[in-house]
Amino acid sequence: MRTSSRSIKSVEWFKSVSRVDADGCWIWTRIASSDGYGRLNYKHKICRAHRLALFIAGGMSRKEFYSTSNVVMHTCDKPKCVNPAHLRVGTTADNVRDRVNKKRGAFGERNYGARLKENDVYLVRALAKCGWCNDEIAKVFPVITASGIKQVVNRSSWKHIK
Ligand SMILES: [Zn+2]
Repeated sequence: MRTSSRSIKSVEWFKSVSRVDADGCWIWTRIASSDGYGRLNYKHKICRAHRLALFIAGGMSRKEFYSTSNVVMHTCDKPKCVNPAHLRVGTTADNVRDRVNKKRGAFGERNYGARLKENDVYLVRALAKCGWCNDEIAKVFPVITASGIKQVVNRSSWKHIK
């Protein structure tokens, strides 16, 4: 199977390089980033596999695809899934809300023993860049306090993540 941009013509290509699981998810089997999302080279740029899959499937416009002000979210909650039917375009705020809802479901009440996941670290830092204060971010991640958020943002914790 060739991996050049030329061979990425259709959404079927994404299915062909994925493992289809019981939920109908197309689990990307190729290179993934450290944050768990599949990635590939497209037109000389590294991009996220799920984002490209949605674009190729016609689920987002070219303008949306090249914009940095939106995120492609997984309704199935599997970062490696590239099935366009499980993907939708949302704003960064949608993504946060989605996580909060899912976290509420998963934890019920605050679980002080739980820790941030690697994916969360990226999101925490992205939110800080968008101007969110530590208290606001801490509300989104009940597993960590505002001072803990501060450490993540100023990189005194999670140093190994760029
Ligand atoms: Zn899926």
